[in-house]
Amino acid sequence: MEKLIITVAPTGSIPQKKHTPHVPVTIEEIVTSALRCEDEGASIVHIHARDEDENPSDDPQIFHEIVTRIKERCNLIIQVSTGGRAGTDLESRIQRLQMRPEMASLTTGSVNFPNSAYVNPPDLIDALATEMQRHDIKPEMEIFDLSMINNAIALGDRDLADRPLHFNFVMGLRGAMPANVEHLVHLYSSLPSDSTWTVSGIGAAQLSMNVHAVLMGGNVRVGLEDNIYYKKGELATNERLVQRIARLSMELGRDVATPDDARQILRLVPRQTE
Ligand code: MG
Repeated sequence: MEKLIITVAPTGSIPQKKHTPHVPVTIEEIVTSALRCEDEGASIVHIHARDEDENPSDDPQIFHEIVTRIKERCNLIIQVSTGGRAGTDLESRIQRLQMRPEMASLTTGSVNFPNSAYVNPPDLIDALATEMQRHDIKPEMEIFDLSMINNAIALGDRDLADRPLHFNFVMGLRGAMPANVEHLVHLYSSLPSDSTWTVSGIGAAQLSMNVHAVLMGGNVRVGLEDNIYYKKGELATNERLVQRIARLSMELGRDVATPDDARQILRLVPRQTE
């Protein structure tokens, strides 16, 4: 089996300090959290930005600052979110790609979140995919239901995304797919055989879905974006979540990828060091 790629999603759009003091929301907190998670075994960091009131921000300047500072201080693969709840305005979502992160998320369909609709019309998906391809940014296809896999494959067929494709199954979000192993088997069996995949379990499903993925040869995403608890009643930190899944994977006989291992496994386009 390939080494395990651990993505950390430290911030997301939802958790605030009132929910957990451990969620990084300022630029410095996000950068510090990313560095610590690399030390514990993460190879990718999935970036969201927040404004001064901890609300999701689509300010490209904040994204730029976070990305630049992480790049200066470590070797992590940076994956910028192009989605989320900070507005669906195409211009701001595309602007984040100008800084050429190695990866970016791409949700290939629409879904209901618990309290809102997350709308990604076909022309917006095409525009984001085109821009990613133009800058050699590898999309992580964010899969909230089965139809989104087919939409992602169609992007490949239409030469709007380069193969092999990489997928992230988001499971256990209220309004979307339940988190269970039967669904997971069905999802990854539906992928082109050269694909790579990872699983994001929401809330308490994070740990169980991650362990299934370790055993099945997939990869994992952890972090407070998806789950703020280490176990029932005990708040987590990002680095402890990374540390735990890295330890479990090693115990189960699967080594953990470094960022450079992950670059090879995902076949990222090499960047010149600026
Ligand atoms: Mg996200």
